[in-house]
Amino acid sequence: MKKMILEARINEYAMRDENPHVPWTPDEIAETAARCREAGASIVHFHARTPDGSPEHSVEAYAEIIRKIRAKSDVLVHPTLGWFSNDGDPAARSRCVTTLAKDPTTRPDFAPIDTGSTNLETYSGGRFDHTDRVYTNRTDTLITYAREFAAAGIKPVMVTWSVGFTRRALALIEMGLVAEPAYFLLNMTDGAFITGHPGTEDGLEAHLRFLPPGRRIEWSSNVVGGDLLKLTRMSTERGGHIAPGIGDYPYRELGCPANEVVVALAAKEARAAGREIASPADVREMLAL
Ligand code: ZN
Repeated sequence: MKKMILEARINEYAMRDENPHVPWTPDEIAETAARCREAGASIVHFHARTPDGSPEHSVEAYAEIIRKIRAKSDVLVHPTLGWFSNDGDPAARSRCVTTLAKDPTTRPDFAPIDTGSTNLETYSGGRFDHTDRVYTNRTDTLITYAREFAAAGIKPVMVTWSVGFTRRALALIEMGLVAEPAYFLLNMTDGAFITGHPGTEDGLEAHLRFLPPGRRIEWSSNVVGGDLLKLTRMSTERGGHIAPGIGDYPYRELGCPANEVVVALAAKEARAAGREIASPADVREMLAL
C-alpha cells in the first residue's frame, strides 16, 4: 500500500491563550519541526511570527527559520505566503518565497496556492465576527504564482476550500501550469469557521468525489477549527494523506498537547490501518520534487 504523508501544520496565526505549545520564534519553530519529524511528519508548514506572536513577513525571518529547520532535521519545508500582507499586488505576496528560492540553502520545497477567494468571517452564538475579512486569490494571481513557483523549483500545494476551488486547480493542471503528480490540500472548516466543507466524513467525501481518477493527484486532508484526527481513518483508507497540527485547532479534548503529540497520534492510527509513514525521501519520489 502507498505510504502516507504526514504534513505538520504547526502554528498558522494561532495565539497561546488556548494551547501554549504554539511555536513562534525561529528556534521554537525549528525545534518543533524536528520533533514532528521524529513523530512521523515529512513536511512542516509554518508561518513566521514575531516574539509576541504577531505575523512576520520579512525574507530574513523566513530564511533564518528555514536554515534552522534544516540544521536540525531533513523535514521538507512549506512556508506560507501569508494572507494579510496581500495589498492587491500579487507579486508582493510571492516575493518572499521566490527570493528564498534563489539560495539553495533557503529554497522552500513547497509553497501554497489557494485556488479561490472566500469570506473568512467567524460565526458562533448567533453572531458574526470579522465580517470584513475576505481572503482574495484572483485567477490572474494564481496563474502568476504557478509560473513563478515552477520557474523557482518550488512544488505548489494546491489548497482547495470547496469544490469550486478544486475545479480551478484542475484547470491550472489542464493548462500545463501545474505539473502532475500534483499535491492538493483538501481544506475543511469547523467550529466558528463556516466557509468550507464541514470537517466530517461527508465534507471530505464531497471533496473526493470531484477529484478526477484520470489525474495524478496526491491529497492531504485538513480541518481549520476542528478535530482532524477523526478523519485519520478515512484519509488512510481512501489512499490519502493528512496534515495535522495545533496551528488549526488547539485539541482541548486532548489537554492542548504539543504538535508532535498530535502527529504521533495520526501516525499510530495510520500504521494500525496498514499504511507505512512516508519519509522526506519517499515524498520527493511520490511528488517528483
Ligand atoms: Zn498556513
